[in-house]
Amino acid sequence: VTFEALGLAKPLLRALADENYVEPTPIQEKAIPHLLQGRDLLGLAQTGTGKTAAFALPLLQLLAERQDSPKPRTARALILVPTRELGLQIAASFKSYGHHLKLTSTVIMGGVSIGPQAKALSRGVDFLVATPGRLLDHLGQGTVDLGQTTYFVIDEADRMLDMGFIRDVRKLMKVMPRKRQSILFSATMPKEIATLAEEILKDPVHITI
Ligand code: AMP
Repeated sequence: VTFEALGLAKPLLRALADENYVEPTPIQEKAIPHLLQGRDLLGLAQTGTGKTAAFALPLLQLLAERQDSPKPRTARALILVPTRELGLQIAASFKSYGHHLKLTSTVIMGGVSIGPQAKALSRGVDFLVATPGRLLDHLGQGTVDLGQTTYFVIDEADRMLDMGFIRDVRKLMKVMPRKRQSILFSATMPKEIATLAEEILKDPVHITI
């Protein structure tokens, strides 16, 4: 199977060629067509399987197809991550895969000063990659508004649970539109994550790698 056969558009295929990706990994093959169709997805997959591209490629395509620019302080898509390392890695992936598209992204995480992050958010972004605590700080200060965030990803949900972020995730869900496309990835599926997935996802496709 080729990336083209999965339904990806030219600018993404060019970026994948730049990256020397020859063919999709199993999770990419299974996830990308459903995500392009707008389905929610529950993915049970470890790091190293290519799960980042599995959600980043279709989201890039969906946002590029609907080129409405984000309003000030809003994000069109939110990718929630447990750690800053993962956040930086995912943001770098969006940059490379989106190299031939005109979409913006920014990373918001704790441990660095909040001012420059607020400035980065002020014009609005297409992709916001964030850790939950710092994102809630921004919401409290009014420097970000998730009222128009209609694409939502939680990556490494089980680590989110281990780090005590589940209450924060629930708070964030309350300020996002109900009508949205949501994706949850986890390496394991403890009961708390299965419950959270039921709250977040509507009629999701299930993928296990
Ligand atoms: P991830 O599981 O998202 O952390 O990805 C693991 C590694 O695989 C990353 O270094 C990616 O750049 C790489 N990768 C993802 N998809 C592909 C692919 N289809 N072909 C080759 N490398 C890939």
